[in-house]
Amino acid sequence: MDIKSFIRTIEDFPRPGIGFKDITPLLADGEAFRWVVGRVSERYRGKVDAVVGIESRGFILGAAVAYDLGVGLSMVRKPGKLPHQTHSVSYELEYGRDSLEVHVDALEPGSKVVVVDDLLATGGTARATVDLVQKLGAEVVECAFVIELGFLGGRAILDPVRTHALISYDD
Ligand code: AMP
Repeated sequence: MDIKSFIRTIEDFPRPGIGFKDITPLLADGEAFRWVVGRVSERYRGKVDAVVGIESRGFILGAAVAYDLGVGLSMVRKPGKLPHQTHSVSYELEYGRDSLEVHVDALEPGSKVVVVDDLLATGGTARATVDLVQKLGAEVVECAFVIELGFLGGRAILDPVRTHALISYDD
């Protein structure tokens, strides 16, 4: 399956200089969406106890993968969205800082999880998510993405946690 043909680059969105990888055509195509979810879930079948989805496109993919694997989904969300007690981790953005939160009881200590998001760019978002998962005493088996922007070096920021992406753009 040529999944790049279902991903379009929107130049200068949301800011000048950013080439935004828009996965909405992929999600809108039943065969392509199913293929992507199947490739991710087959890699982790029998190997994880839970899926952690990163807001917001990570929820769409993570929920489908969790359903396919028959395991639970835990959500890592932007600040102020989760109703119960949370852990929070802040991280650097290109301009300034942001933070992510997880419920204190979102994962069983000792459980093995895969972190799912649509795209790995600088790695800051996934790194903060890994930190939250580890705060809960769970283990990240791997971070899984549909797309990796290889030229931004996010993989190195996640090291020694492993990274897997279905496709990569190198410029
Ligand atoms: P980063 O923390 O730099 O790895 O950014 C990853 C997060 O920002 C993911 O949740 C992506 O959905 C989003 N993101 C960053 N850059 C892009 C891009 N060029 N196209 C689409 N989404 C992006």
